[in-house]
Formats: sequence, C-alpha cells, structure tokens
Amino acid sequence: MAKELVVISGKGGTGKTSIVASFATLAEKVVLADCDVDAADLHLILSPTVVKREEFSGGSRARVMADQCTACGTCQEVCRFDAIHFDGPGNAEREKTFRVDPIACEGCGVCAWFCPENAIEFAPAINGEWFISDTRRGPMVHAKLGVAEENSGKLVSLVRTQAESIAKEQQLDLVLIDGSPGIGCPVIASITGADLVLVVTEPTLSGLHDLGRVADLTRHFGIQTLVCINKWDLNKEIASQIETQARPRGLGIAGRVRYDRAVTEAQIRKLSIVEYQRNGAAEDIKQLWAQVRKAMNHQSAPGSG
Ligand code: SF4
Ligand code: SF4
Repeated sequence: MAKELVVISGKGGTGKTSIVASFATLAEKVVLADCDVDAADLHLILSPTVVKREEFSGGSRARVMADQCTACGTCQEVCRFDAIHFDGPGNAEREKTFRVDPIACEGCGVCAWFCPENAIEFAPAINGEWFISDTRRGPMVHAKLGVAEENSGKLVSLVRTQAESIAKEQQLDLVLIDGSPGIGCPVIASITGADLVLVVTEPTLSGLHDLGRVADLTRHFGIQTLVCINKWDLNKEIASQIETQARPRGLGIAGRVRYDRAVTEAQIRKLSIVEYQRNGAAEDIKQLWAQVRKAMNHQSAPGSG
C-alpha cells in the first residue's frame, strides 16, 4: 500500500508548497494531492493538464421561492442560525417575502421541513470543483473552493480519497499531500491516517508558537511528525530555539533549508527549486528528502511497528 506523506505549516506562506513541488520532483511513483484547497498553488509550479473535472457539493442550502411564500414567518421562527430575514422580493399577494442568507445558512433543512406552503427549495449547493490532472511528475488531484465556502474539510477528504484510489490503481508508492495550513478542520482532514507529517516552519516567534499547536494536533492523532525550518538562516537564534523545543514535544528534526532567492526565480519559471538548480536551497531540500524517506522506510522495516 502507498505511504502517505503530508506536508503542513502552522500558517500560509512558509514555503511549504515549494518544498512539496521539490519532493514531487525527487520522488518516484508518486501521486500528488493538493489539500490546501483554500489557497491551492501547487498547480502554479506543476502546470497540470486537467483530465477530469467534477463539481463538489459540501451540503444542501435552503432557498425561499418568493412566488409561493405567504410570509407566515414559520421558517424564521424555526431557523436556529438566524439565516432567514424578512427582506425577500415581493409576489402577486404581498410586498415582501422571506429570504435565506446563503452565507448564514448551515443547511440543516429544518425550514424546508416546516414550511406549510412547500415554498422552500432545499437542494445540494455547488461549493467548488475538483480535478484529476496529469503533471510532469505524475498524476495530481486538486480542487477549487467557491468564495466564502466553508466545507473545505469535506473537500480535502475527497481529494485525499481520490489520490489514494489513483495510487492503488496505478500501483504508486507514495501519496504526497500538500496539506492545509492552520489547525482547523481542513488540516485535520489532511493528516488523519497519514504515515508521516512534515511541518514546515519559519524562524519567527509566530513560527515557534504555531509549531507547538501543530505538535499537539499530530500527537493527538498519533502520527509521526518531523520538522523542517525553512529560511532558517534569517534568524539562527529562533531556528535553534525551534529545534530545542521540538524534541521534547516528540517531534523529529528533518533538516534546515537556507534562504535562497533562487526559490522565487524557480517559481516564476514554473519549476521546483531542485529542477532549477543544484546548489543552495536545492541541496538542502535534497538532504531533507533523504531524511524524510529514511523515516518512512524505517516505518516499513520489519519489527519497526
Ligand atoms: S415558512 Fe414558507 S411560506 Fe412561511 S414565510 Fe417561510 S417560506 Fe414563506
Ligand atoms: S436550512 Fe437550516 S440553517 Fe438554513 S435557513 Fe433553513 S433552518 Fe436556517
């Protein structure tokens, strides 16, 4: 069965995606899953060609059909989420009707159930799209969430499941997941059941703080976790502090990646840094990849649990 490696960060903008793109270049027989669905940008480096596109529905939404509404107000009374307001368009009988605020609606369906006139449509809402694509490094599953949509945990699970199926079908060894940032529902959906988590952090005080929160999360789920400090030489003191604090929290140190302007130059050319050059940050990332592989191989070794 394919191993699952998830790369996450406490917040966005730590260079996580450029590390994932480099790992994709270095790995053999890999399927990529971009689970950073709120800010998917792995495709910017890997230029995927979409071969399958599907709509995603994270749940249903209510909508008042104004022409059938008698403005009895029952729906507003029963909605626990304060999502129904008396400011909808008028109809032949009355000046105003009730209206559902689609952002506030939690999709519970109670209003539709209680409406005496059957005037509430309750149908699956399209919240985004997901794709299977070909890239120069192998198949990739990715997604796009609609504006102000909040079902990203469900979409992340879908992206992962699709990537797992492709790995099985094509007998690939690794599912490489660009995880969601933060510690909320999407990141939990990114990491549950994974074999290894790599946390990419920066040498800043907020990086130090975020690392503690992420460590608590991965420990809770019992997933082996390694840490990498990206742009470590921008603040060597905090970089050392991060490593010192990581070990007692049960986190392994996978490596350090130096600050290198070439990372941005590579991105502009739609290349991973390891495709773009041999030295500098590329050299560090190759060493990092060797450590990550070692940790995964150790898991597969007989008697290693
Ligand atoms: S319960 Fe139905 S008829 Fe009554 S206000 Fe709401 S939508 Fe209109
Ligand atoms: S579906 Fe639930 S949350 Fe949405 S408007 Fe109806 S009662 Fe409120």
